[in-house]
Amino acid sequence: MVYEVAKVHAIEILDSRGRPTLEVSLELASGPVAVAGVPSGASTGTREAVELRDGDPKRYKGAGVTKAVGNVNGEINGLLAGRAWKSLEELDRAVIELDGTETKSRLGANATVGVSMAAARAMALADDKPLYRWLAPDESLLRLPVPHFNVVNGGAHAQNPLELQEFMVAPLGAPTFAEALRAGAEVYQVLRALLHAAGHSTGLGDEGGFAPNLSTPEEVLDLLVEAITKAGYKPGPDGIAIALDPASSEMRESDGSYRYSPGVRFTTDQMIDRYQALTTKYPIWLIEDGLGEDDWDGWEKLTARLGQSVQLVGDDLFVTNPAIIREGIERHVANSALIKLNQIGTVSETLEAIAVCRAAGYAQFISHRSGETTDSFIADLAVASGAGQLKTGAPARGERVAKYNRLVVIEAEMPGLPYGLPGRGH
Ligand code: PGA
Ligand code: ZN
Repeated sequence: MVYEVAKVHAIEILDSRGRPTLEVSLELASGPVAVAGVPSGASTGTREAVELRDGDPKRYKGAGVTKAVGNVNGEINGLLAGRAWKSLEELDRAVIELDGTETKSRLGANATVGVSMAAARAMALADDKPLYRWLAPDESLLRLPVPHFNVVNGGAHAQNPLELQEFMVAPLGAPTFAEALRAGAEVYQVLRALLHAAGHSTGLGDEGGFAPNLSTPEEVLDLLVEAITKAGYKPGPDGIAIALDPASSEMRESDGSYRYSPGVRFTTDQMIDRYQALTTKYPIWLIEDGLGEDDWDGWEKLTARLGQSVQLVGDDLFVTNPAIIREGIERHVANSALIKLNQIGTVSETLEAIAVCRAAGYAQFISHRSGETTDSFIADLAVASGAGQLKTGAPARGERVAKYNRLVVIEAEMPGLPYGLPGRGH
């Protein structure tokens, strides 16, 4: 099978924050046309592939993406159209070579990832397979992921005093994805009522979680345990566990200390001590970016101390980059990697990052960005990879719910698929 591209075309649309992004459509000569929406982060790692923005202050304060759109419609279409491609990997590699930089800064990773996602979808259509089956390296891996619902937002995603960015609830003990979704939505509604009753705002942050005027992580964690219990679930790994993404690169001061909460600064060692205390007191099973992206010595200590009992995920630390993940594996840093398509800029390299993790026994945590479209590609990717876990915001707001709802549809299509992390007895 070869895939002859007829045309690839992009336009400028808006993401969920009202900032410009790309929608890319790719048409195969045999007929299929597929579309992809490109996500965009706010608390980005410094080693991520580069998102190309126009920098023209007269349009969207410089955030326009007409240059990236032009690169798709010009150079990339020129490369791909009229040629038959043997695989997505071959197509992605050609685009990477055309770009010619280490970080996709010339054409823009927002251009390349949109093209790659649309190409994957079009190829799946041509092969008459659902995307989640087409992307799977081996169909025996297919499984539905544990959704990690981000129900309280802070950091760069909200205007409240919380320094930690994400507080998530993860229904590890649910029997099916549909039941996990129900659990997440029920906890979310109880949490709204609790916040309201305590006189807090129930306004939302960028990922659909509440953004109350709380300042310490402990206050949020107490509320989450209460909400889980009041909703009728058991806090913990047999019921609903808690996951944190402090996104601590964003909490870092120039002297290397971390702003833990207003007026409280911690050294790396104090951060590790606090995580240990928090995981003892609360049912926290996963911590993402617990330390900064350039605090690798700290990460080694954190992993040695908590790596046996807690999933430690590298996001800004690894930026979905297979080479950096390999470095982490060698140095025994973290035990899991966050997986975001636009951090590396092609679907093929994303699949490679997942494969590198799997081979080393590192977990993979499939993720949205804080700026999203209604594109649900990552839902299919989560099922295809067999990662068994995904985060895509609160169980509310259309661009987040689009992914969760896509997983409900996949579960209905494939009733026998296992739910949850591999090896956890589901
Ligand atoms: P971002 O944040 O999409 O704003 O970069 C998400 C995360 O840190 O996981
Ligand atoms: Zn993160």
